[in-house]
Amino acid sequence: MNTSNIAFSFELFPPRTPQGWANLPRLIGDLAAVRPAFFSVTHGAGGSDQGGTYEAIIKVIEQSGIEAAPHLTCIGSTRANIAALLSQYRDAGVQRIVALRGDLPATAMRSEAPGEFRYANELVSFIRETHGEHFTLEVAAYPEMHPQAASPQADFEAYVRKVKAGAHGAVTQYFYNADSYFEFVEQSHKAGINIPVVPGVMPIVNTAQLLRFSAACGAEIPRWVKLRLESYGEDKASVQAFGLEVVTRLSETLLKGGAPGIHFYTLNQAEPTLKLWRNLGLPT
Ligand code: FAD
Repeated sequence: MNTSNIAFSFELFPPRTPQGWANLPRLIGDLAAVRPAFFSVTHGAGGSDQGGTYEAIIKVIEQSGIEAAPHLTCIGSTRANIAALLSQYRDAGVQRIVALRGDLPATAMRSEAPGEFRYANELVSFIRETHGEHFTLEVAAYPEMHPQAASPQADFEAYVRKVKAGAHGAVTQYFYNADSYFEFVEQSHKAGINIPVVPGVMPIVNTAQLLRFSAACGAEIPRWVKLRLESYGEDKASVQAFGLEVVTRLSETLLKGGAPGIHFYTLNQAEPTLKLWRNLGLPT
């Protein structure tokens, strides 16, 4: 397969421990070696790891010279907070932002952080109003529906609002059912929405973690995959070997079906993503 026009990106999160920060240069170095189109770095909503996002973005830029895109969440934030972060990123040379609503931590009281934004489309509009076309804006898409959406139609309409507000591209929540992605793309085309929708792929490295994340974000784990993973119990090598087979097949199906790239949720581990990269025959 000719993948020269396809954009592969790697998502990191700001490390949560001193050891994680100490390991970050090696992680960036190992992943940068295969020259992704860009890295992205997640951002906690309501103030949890915002300085960490900036610090990690700067490290990626300085160490690798590869484009780095901060995620920016707006729930619980004021326009002034967001404006200050945007200026800081612009000054650092950032040109792409993943614009999100985010989720407040379960412990946050609504009254503690009412914020000035309710949904991601408002953040997209705000960035466009204040910075014009300076930033390329990516938004989140949910082929299997966002877990808080009132209905699939309402969720799709929310996605359309983000695109109409000025998003240039979308990155999906991870999923293991390729049909949900193809259906989402088809629905978008029928609605006249033609921005690239890059599927998010999460390598499978740990069964308990996968089931926990998936319950929270609404990603469906096919029954046969869940049963096979659970049957391996604590046997990590078998979990990872089977997980690699599943995500390799998924990624091949997505690329053959026309996906414009893959956004790898690396979970700050280079090897699972690089094994998938090599399995797909991507240039190393
Ligand atoms: P929105 O697009 O605003 O949608 C949120 C919900 O509100 C949906 O259910 C939607 O249907 C509904 N909705 C939208 N507009 C309206 C309206 N006008 N009226 C009623 N309902 C409406 N989270 C983080 O905290 N940090 C990150 O770094 C991060 N990175 C992510 C990266 C990707 C690629 C993805 C897919 C998700 C990421 N998330 C992150 C998770 C994301 O923040 C959550 O899924 C969050 O709950 C929704 O964010 P959103 O930007 O999709 O919100």
